[in-house]
Amino acid sequence: MKNRLFVISGPAGVGKGTLVKLLLQEDPALTLSVSCTTRAPRKGEVQGREYFFLTKEGFQDRIDSGDFLEWDEHFGNFYGTPKSFVLEQLEEKSIILEIDVAGARQVKQHEADFGRIVLIMIVPPDMETLKSRLVGRGSETEETLKNRLARVEYEYAQKDKYDYVVVNDNLEEAKRTLQNIILQETNRGDKHD
Ligand code: ADP
Ligand code: 5GP
Repeated sequence: MKNRLFVISGPAGVGKGTLVKLLLQEDPALTLSVSCTTRAPRKGEVQGREYFFLTKEGFQDRIDSGDFLEWDEHFGNFYGTPKSFVLEQLEEKSIILEIDVAGARQVKQHEADFGRIVLIMIVPPDMETLKSRLVGRGSETEETLKNRLARVEYEYAQKDKYDYVVVNDNLEEAKRTLQNIILQETNRGDKHD
């Protein structure tokens, strides 16, 4: 068995959070990466659990010292995946990063340090299903719904860069497919890459 880095991407509302939660519940040998951000903590968020909350200066220092596997700016705040945290966790477990297609592309460039990095894209069975999941979650305004759906095609167009594309139609089936991928990949040696 080899601890691996798995990147899970896919459009908002496709079920990434739901699936990742199930995977973590059922496999104690898996953990989730904690990102750094410069945004303020929301109510209930705990330092080091949802995010490592940093000042802009602290974040910049980490960029300068090369401690991000990838980073990006969203809504005027910075977000990034800390390399040292991921490396530390990898000593013990396989680790999941839930990040977008641009971040995934950056992460994939670190295979020299991490061994094989497995990119998995979750897709909906169709656009109507995606839309109804987003609406059903109750998290979107008409505006954010439109923006999120507009991004889907762009994300989907990147699917060739992914090692696996998993359709989240039936939740149980999608979960089992992901568990099989994880099992297969953790049993696979780097020398066959
Ligand atoms: P994401 O993390 O990708 O934004 P979520 O995990 O929040 O998506 O899922 C969006 C909504 O869709 C949630 O309300 C969730 O319960 C629902 N959902 C996820 N997977 C399925 C599925 N296979 N079938 C039906 N509903 C689902
Ligand atoms: P929120 O502030 O709502 O928690 O997250 C805002 C956005 O930042 C989301 O789209 C989320 O996916 C993205 N994000 C969170 N962590 C990271 C990260 O480590 N890297 C990148 N590139 N984006 C992130």
